[in-house]
Amino acid sequence: MDALAILVPVPAQVLTREVTTHSAEETTAFGRALVDLLVPPKLVLLRGDLGAGKTTLIKGIAAGFQAASEDDVTSPTFTLVHEYRGPQVTIYHVDLYRVDSPRELETLGLDDLLDNGLVLIEWGEKFPRFARDRDVEITIERLAEHDRRIRIVTR
Ligand code: ADP
Ligand code: MG
Repeated sequence: MDALAILVPVPAQVLTREVTTHSAEETTAFGRALVDLLVPPKLVLLRGDLGAGKTTLIKGIAAGFQAASEDDVTSPTFTLVHEYRGPQVTIYHVDLYRVDSPRELETLGLDDLLDNGLVLIEWGEKFPRFARDRDVEITIERLAEHDRRIRIVTR
């Protein structure tokens, strides 16, 4: 047996929702409808290739919580963390695409954000601790130019 399998248990995989969208607008609409599922504090990983639609889905989630308008949600590829403050919920939108070392990750102070916020991380699976500790994992798969399969797994 793989010794790592004992040291790093994978969270239980419960497929909660699965949908195929056919436009960016359908994906943001789906994101708006996730508010009930994403009551903070939660660590949410968004997985999928570049251009899959992770940021697009987060536009809908942020709008659903009235934390930002869809247009105000942009990729934090260079700034690494964007904060959207809603009346009830503060969302932290993180993109770790350019973060490679645990030391760099440390400087972002994500642990403090996790205490009461909703933390949405693109490329978080690069770091095993996030893959292990996540509450929700959303995987987006590009099926065709405008078609995306979105799967949501919770523990
Ligand atoms: P990621 O954050 O995963 O790199 P983005 O959300 O930035 O991806 O980009 C997704 C791109 O795909 C956008 O240009 C969006 O308009 C386009 N797109 C086309 N169809 C869809 C769809 N069904 N869902 C989400 N995005 C879509
Ligand atoms: Mg993105």
